[in-house]
Amino acid sequence: MVIQLRGLSTGYAGVPVVRDLDLDVDEGEVVGLLGPNGAGKTTTLLAISGMIRPLAGEIEVLGSRPSTRQPHLLPRRGLAHVTESRNLFYELTVKENLRLGLRGSKADKAKGMSDAFELFPALVPLADRRTALLSGGEQQMLAVARALVSRPKVLLLDEMSLGLAPVIVERLLAAVRDVASRTGCAIVLVEQHVHLALRVVDRAYVLAHGTVSMSGTAEELNAQRAVLESSYLGDFALDDGATDAAPGASAVAAG
Ligand code: ATP
Repeated sequence: MVIQLRGLSTGYAGVPVVRDLDLDVDEGEVVGLLGPNGAGKTTTLLAISGMIRPLAGEIEVLGSRPSTRQPHLLPRRGLAHVTESRNLFYELTVKENLRLGLRGSKADKAKGMSDAFELFPALVPLADRRTALLSGGEQQMLAVARALVSRPKVLLLDEMSLGLAPVIVERLLAAVRDVASRTGCAIVLVEQHVHLALRVVDRAYVLAHGTVSMSGTAEELNAQRAVLESSYLGDFALDDGATDAAPGASAVAAG
């Protein structure tokens, strides 16, 4: 396993907001972390990348425990975390931000740069623009592109679709799926567009109030769309296609 959480409880100022969480992500897998606002999805990603510490339980990422003292060293070991705040350098241009994510030889870097622009053609005319002058959606594309060009072994994506048009979200999710399958990168995806997420993830965990309320393969969860929807308690509607449920499969009720 690339990521393994066992009985993880974590939170803020000693107060747990995620409790007793078991989660596994294997090489090449895309795993969704779903659930309503405040369920603990962002908190879980922060714990995986070592930004906050466990209150109980174990976290193993790429064979070792993330050090909360040195979370900045994780990128060197192959972990990229696209947070909701994007962590871009706003005074730098688009190209300069991308360059910061590039790894390897000169040829690898040139290829990485052209791959990023191929993935997000909307960034091409903005290549020399200062990042602060980009729209929210354009900044979001840049943050994801920068994470991908670093060729991570673990990629944590926190609501990368925020501010993006659904057609871009679909393209982005397909690209993420492709990266996992092609490179073996293990990806954890927090995504509000549940029906879109379930088209690309292998498996997903649904959090509610800090614990897992459902988990299963995408097919199993699709077959349980009504239950999945009710776990959101009307926080927001699943925006389409309860109709693409695959009948017959059953999600694992974890709690
Ligand atoms: P969203 O979809 O709204 O981003 P989420 O599932 O990612 O929600 P978290 O951001 O992990 O949820 O929040 C889980 C709980 O932890 C919430 O009750 C939230 O208020 C609380 N929380 C988040 N950040 C902090 C913080 N820095 N200090 C104290 N409590 C926090």
